[in-house]
Amino acid sequence: MALLALPLHQGPPNHSSHPHPPFLLLTTPLQSCTSIKQAKQIHASILRNSGLLHHHQRQELFVWLISALHGNHSSYAALVFEQQLQEDATTIFMWNTMIRSHASSSSDPMHSFSLYNRMRENGILPNNYTFTFLINASATTPMMLRLGPAIHAQTIVFGIPNSDVHIHTALLHMYAAGGNIENARSVFDRMLHKTTATWNAMIAGYTKRGDVESAWNLFDAMPDRDEQSWNVMVCGYARIGECDVAGMLFEGMPVKTLPTWNAMIAGYAQDSRPADALEVFRQMQFAGVTPDKITMVAVLPACTQLGALELGEWLHVYADKNRLSSNNAVCNALMDMYAKCGSIDKAMAVFKGMKERTVVSWNTMISGMAIHGRAKEAIELFAEMESEGVVPDDITFVGLLSACGHAGFVDSAWAYFRRMLEVYQIQPKIEHYGCMVDVLGRAQLLGEALELIDNMPIEPNSVILGSLLSACRSCNDFQLGEMVLEKLVDLEPLNPGYYVLLSNMYACSGRWREVIRVRNLMKLRGIEKTPGCSSIEVDSTVHEFIVGDKTHPQTQEIYAKLEEISERLHLVGYMPDTSVVLFDLDEEEKAQNLSVHSEKLAVAFGLLKTSAGKPIRVVKNLRVCCDCHTALKLISNVYERDIIVRDRNRFHHFKDGICSCNEYW
Ligand code: ZN
Ligand code: ZN
Repeated sequence: MALLALPLHQGPPNHSSHPHPPFLLLTTPLQSCTSIKQAKQIHASILRNSGLLHHHQRQELFVWLISALHGNHSSYAALVFEQQLQEDATTIFMWNTMIRSHASSSSDPMHSFSLYNRMRENGILPNNYTFTFLINASATTPMMLRLGPAIHAQTIVFGIPNSDVHIHTALLHMYAAGGNIENARSVFDRMLHKTTATWNAMIAGYTKRGDVESAWNLFDAMPDRDEQSWNVMVCGYARIGECDVAGMLFEGMPVKTLPTWNAMIAGYAQDSRPADALEVFRQMQFAGVTPDKITMVAVLPACTQLGALELGEWLHVYADKNRLSSNNAVCNALMDMYAKCGSIDKAMAVFKGMKERTVVSWNTMISGMAIHGRAKEAIELFAEMESEGVVPDDITFVGLLSACGHAGFVDSAWAYFRRMLEVYQIQPKIEHYGCMVDVLGRAQLLGEALELIDNMPIEPNSVILGSLLSACRSCNDFQLGEMVLEKLVDLEPLNPGYYVLLSNMYACSGRWREVIRVRNLMKLRGIEKTPGCSSIEVDSTVHEFIVGDKTHPQTQEIYAKLEEISERLHLVGYMPDTSVVLFDLDEEEKAQNLSVHSEKLAVAFGLLKTSAGKPIRVVKNLRVCCDCHTALKLISNVYERDIIVRDRNRFHHFKDGICSCNEYW
C-alpha cells in the first residue's frame, strides 16, 4: 500500500539538506523558541518570507512551529494548523504533530481521535506514527481504552504488518493496561520482531495483574534485559508483598534506578517491614541516589511504623531543602508520621503550612487528634473543615467517632453518627459501628451497645465483637464477654490474641478446666502467641526489644537500670500487678518477671541513653498491660520524664504520674 512507502521520520525535519538562507534563519530561533511572543514573530516571518521558501520548506517550518507551540500555547498551535487546513496545505506530518500533542496531553487525549477522523475526511492517509500515537492515547484512561480495539482494527485495514515492532508493542501495552492480558499475549506471540521494550511491556502486564509466575518465565526467557526489565520485576514482586524475592532481584540488578529504589522501600513498608525499608533507604543514600517525592511518601510510613521520629524529622528537613514539602502527598505522609510518632503539634504545624488541603489532609489530622485523645480539637477541625466547604468522607467520620470514643463523648458520637447519613448520605460501615460500640462500651452503656449491634444491617465482624469485648471487660460482664470471645475465636481461628483473652477470662472466674481446653485448642491449631515487642529510637537508630530480651549489646546496663527503677518505684509504693502473670497463657512468659515486658526494657534503655528532660517515645505492637501502665505512670513522676507510648490502639502520654488515656485503653 501507498502509505508504507511514506518516510518514517516524524517531527522537526533535518534542515541541513536545505541550505536556503531564510529557512536556516527561521529554523534556528524555532529550536529555542520559548515565549508566545517569539513564536508569533517567527510565524510572521514565515508568512513574510513565503516567496523565498520552497513549498516543502514552508510546510516543514509549519510542522516545527506547531510542534514548538504545543504544550504551553496549544490554542495558538491549533490556530496555525486551522489556517493551513483552510489553505489546503496540511501534510501527514502536521496531522501527526497535532495528534501526538493531544494524545500525550492529560487534558484532552480524546481529541486526538477526532483529529484522526478529520484527517481521513481530508483524504490524508495515516502512517505508522499516526497509529502509534493513537494507540498510546487509548491506553491513557479507562474510557479511552474502549477505543483501543477500533484502532487495532484500523491498523489491520491499513495493512500494518506484524513486523512493525513499535505499533505492536503499543498495542500490547494498550491491552495490558486495560487488563486484557490474553489479547496482549496474543499480540506478543504473533509479533515477528520483538525489542526489549516489547518483552518489558508484556512482563509489566503480568506483574500488574499479580501473575509474577508468568512474568518470571518471560524474564527468564528474554534475550536481553535492560534496567526497565529488572525494574518491572522488582516492582511486581514488591507490590504483591513478595519482598524476599523482590529483594533478591534487587540485589542482582546491574544498575538500580530511582523507581526501583522507591518500589523496594514502598514494598517493605507496605509489608510491615519498616526496618528493612529504612535499610534500603540508607543504602540508597550511600549509592548517591537523590530521593524524590515518591521516595518520601514510601519511606515516611516506615518511620511511622517504627516510631522513628528523629529520622522522620530529618526527612522533613530534607523535603524542605529540596522543595518536596510543597507536595500534597508528602505533607500528608509527614503529618501522619508526626501524629503517629507522638508529635501531634508538629503534625498540626505541617497542616497549617499547607497551601491546599485535600480531604486526606483533614482526615489525617482528625484521626491524629483522635489517637492522642484530643477529641475537642478533632471536633473543632471537623467544624473548620465543614466551614471551608471540604466534603467529608467515610474515613473522616471514623476519625471523628474514634475521637469521641477515646474521650467518652457519647452525645457527640450519636450526633455525628446521624449527621453522616442525614447530611452527607454516607452509609455507616462496619468501622463506624465499631466506633459506636466503643463509645457506648466506654460509657458502660452495654445495653445500648448490644441494641446497636442487633439492629445493624451488616453481620458483626471481629472489629465489632472486639469493641464489645472491651466493653464487657470494663463493665465486668464476664458472662457476655465469654460468649463474645467464643464467637471471635470462631471468626478468626488463627488470631492468638483472642485465645489469650478467652483463657484469661476463664482464669478470672477460676474455671481452670476451660483454661486448659483453650490452651490445648491453641496447641492443636499450631497457634503461637505474638511476642510483645517495643521499639525506641535513640540517635536516629531504632532499638527493638521483645519481652525478656537479652540480645541487646547493652543488656547488662539495661537490666541494672531495671533493677534501680524497681527499687525506686517500691519506695513510692509500687506493687507489681501479678494478676497479669497469673492469667497469662504462655508458661514461659508466666515464669518471667513482669519487669521484663518489652515496653519496660525500652523505657529503661531510654532513661539510660537520653538526656534529662527529653521525652521518651516507645512504640509497642500489642496493648500495654495493666502492670506496665501503672509502672510507667510512676516512672514519669519519679524520673520527671514524659513517656509517650504508642500501643496497638492509641497513645498514652505519661506525665507527672498521670496518663492521658484516663485509664481507658
Ligand atoms: Zn506489661
Ligand atoms: Zn494510658
